[in-house]
Amino acid sequence: MKQNIETLCVQAGWEPRKGESRQQPIIQSTTFKYDTSDQMGRLFDLEDAGYFYTRLQNPTNDRVAAKIAALEGGVGAMLTSSGQAANFFACLNICTAGDHMITSTCIYGGTYNLFGVTLPKMGIEVTFVDQEASEEELEKAFRPNTKLVFGETLSNPGVKVLDIEKFARLAHGHGVPLIIDNTFATPVNCRPFEWGADIVTHSTTKYMDGHGTTVGGVIVDSGNFDWEAHADRYPGLTTPDESYHGLTYTKKFGKLAYITKATSQLMRDLGSIQAPQNAFYLNLGLQTLHLRMPRHCENALKVARFLHDHPQVAWVNYPDLEDDSQHALQQKYLPNGSCGVLVFGLKGGREFSIKFMDNLKLICIATHVADCHSCVLHPASHTHRQLSDEQLLEAGIAPDLIRMSLGIENADELIADIAQAIEAAEK
Ligand SMILES: *Cc1c(COP(=O)(O)O)cnc(C)c1O
Repeated sequence: MKQNIETLCVQAGWEPRKGESRQQPIIQSTTFKYDTSDQMGRLFDLEDAGYFYTRLQNPTNDRVAAKIAALEGGVGAMLTSSGQAANFFACLNICTAGDHMITSTCIYGGTYNLFGVTLPKMGIEVTFVDQEASEEELEKAFRPNTKLVFGETLSNPGVKVLDIEKFARLAHGHGVPLIIDNTFATPVNCRPFEWGADIVTHSTTKYMDGHGTTVGGVIVDSGNFDWEAHADRYPGLTTPDESYHGLTYTKKFGKLAYITKATSQLMRDLGSIQAPQNAFYLNLGLQTLHLRMPRHCENALKVARFLHDHPQVAWVNYPDLEDDSQHALQQKYLPNGSCGVLVFGLKGGREFSIKFMDNLKLICIATHVADCHSCVLHPASHTHRQLSDEQLLEAGIAPDLIRMSLGIENADELIADIAQAIEAAEK
């Protein structure tokens, strides 16, 4: 029977048998025992499925990954040590030196560096596109060696909503998959596979963990992209892998080709697996994800409305506000609410913003978003403090932009904290 998201959050991935622990156990072991040399050999040939070394796979991780795959509606998933590793591996799994990829400019700063600086150093060319451009305009970014298109459901920090159907149409028209970073929306608020995305990634560090305890990431495969139909473009999946005695992923693993290659090749060679202990914490977070997301959205909308009507606030962006530029897309892709993050600017420039933040009491200054504690960050004074106001604007960040992540505390108390901090900054 098809289960709903609430049940999947709690129960998917681990089905204990008679006498086994109800909560999923942490398998804190690097290695796994076998009886014969042949049994072990078959694992190394990918002839049998099984565990042999935790750098590649661990049962705790796989159960949590299976839960996330179920939440997203995918066929398989792999946990990584961070969201950065997830986005890196998701691209590297089908891109190599000499290849090209396309990404929206509205992406997380860490991903922006990865795509703008580090991948080019490895010989992968990246074209950045304006996600609000017309399809005719976006068509121009494709090249014969383009291997994938990338975007974020809700961008960090701008909270722009990606038109996933438009991007899927463009990608598929050129025979390449669409990879979506679904970190801010989570599968509770949006499941990109239902709109045509092929691969989904997350920084599980954010809402999935939800308590600010554990850095982690995940890659989920929908199993829908037909690699064989574009075999020449994806030789890594459709031709023999010499490091596994000439096995071909698409032939051997079918719909699981992409995620199996990511595990058996990239994780084997590059490491970056999530620690089983961290996967356990992540699972605790996932068990309440469906309860927390509505509250994050409710609090953010109340705060957004308060800021919207406050005379000291210059502007506020939050997709769930009726007059927000992203509202139509939010209504389509995230009708139950977007996320708990919003951005706004105060009148009075950098100095006023700093005074405001220093006077917040409940809402803390932290380089984080999307956990149960409310927090705030001012890129011009923190992550991007080396830039002048002109340079900030060039980077697409308004000098007065404040990013606020609303937790699951009492909304009236959060609003009162903001009100008193603005008042204190006015003195
Ligand atoms: C934080 C974040 C990342 C990077 O994740 P880490 O877990 O910090 O490595 C990637 N994408 C988005 C949208 C993020 O918010």
